[in-house]
Amino acid sequence: MKEEFENEMKLEFVSKATNEAFARITVAAFASQLDPTIEELADIKTAVSEAVTNCIIHAYENRQGIIRINAKLKNNEIIIQISDNGKGIENVDIAKEPLYTTKPNLERSGMGFTIMESFMDTMKVESIVGLGTKVTLVKSIKKQEEQIQQDEESLSSFTKE
Ligand code: ATP
Ligand code: MG
Repeated sequence: MKEEFENEMKLEFVSKATNEAFARITVAAFASQLDPTIEELADIKTAVSEAVTNCIIHAYENRQGIIRINAKLKNNEIIIQISDNGKGIENVDIAKEPLYTTKPNLERSGMGFTIMESFMDTMKVESIVGLGTKVTLVKSIKKQEEQIQQDEESLSSFTKE
């Protein structure tokens, strides 16, 4: 029987713009254990970047707060939770709509949630006004078994020669 692969990490950092890159790179490094393609890794980085930027810009509105990330690997899936204790979202369904933004004057396009939703398999947003927001992102990393099998076959025929 195949053994179940599980791992978990937690990350906590202050809501400074410079930490957006730190968060995205750290989650990508953790996700790389699932052996994702470059494209899958880029999708994860983009989604994490959007969620963390939202915490910095909207949740804390440039005052300093704590952003928490919890990432879990389960079999071939990564589950990422990004949460803040910021101002919260009044209507999550409206906030998730493409082009909806409460900060149009800050060159926001209102596409963050749409991007997260399209780059990941699932996205869940939970929020309580005055308490904060939690975004859960899930992506399944395609098994590269076929590729591995091919590699093994060509290797064995090479060593037989
Ligand atoms: P863009 O992401 O394209 O720069 P945006 O951040 O406004 O623009 P979304 O990321 O889709 O667009 O977010 C939509 C809206 O949801 C935001 O304008 C903001 O009002 C609200 N929002 C999103 N994340 C949070 C959060 N963590 N805390 C409070 N409000 C949030
Ligand atoms: Mg955004």
